[in-house]
Amino acid sequence: MKRIFLLEEDDKSLNKGVEIATTDKDLDIYDNLHIGGRYYNVILKNEEGNIVGVTNYSKQNWEEMNEPKFYCPHCGYTYHEADKWGESGEVECSYCGAGLKFTKEVEVSYNVELIKTPKLIKIK
Ligand SMILES: [Zn+2]
Repeated sequence: MKRIFLLEEDDKSLNKGVEIATTDKDLDIYDNLHIGGRYYNVILKNEEGNIVGVTNYSKQNWEEMNEPKFYCPHCGYTYHEADKWGESGEVECSYCGAGLKFTKEVEVSYNVELIKTPKLIKIK
């Protein structure tokens, strides 16, 4: 049985996290989890492999922010270096692994389409 801990925003260590779920599935760093309607990303794993630390991601939080940004429509990860990527192209989200196709829009905003959904592991 593996224990899943939600880590704190400012101190991402396992002993500060709060247990949110348990599972029999094997989990690895970068796995995308779907637990109780929310999305989480595995960022830590202990040596024994029986405890993983996750951070929460929410599309909604990013949509509420009106600052123009290039962000992954799947996990919400924001890329600050996107202005170096030219007018359009395809990239793989380095945070969740989703495939993204983008075109640069006027006034520094981006149209980002989800072209590949990353593998999601559903817990419970
Ligand atoms: Zn992503």
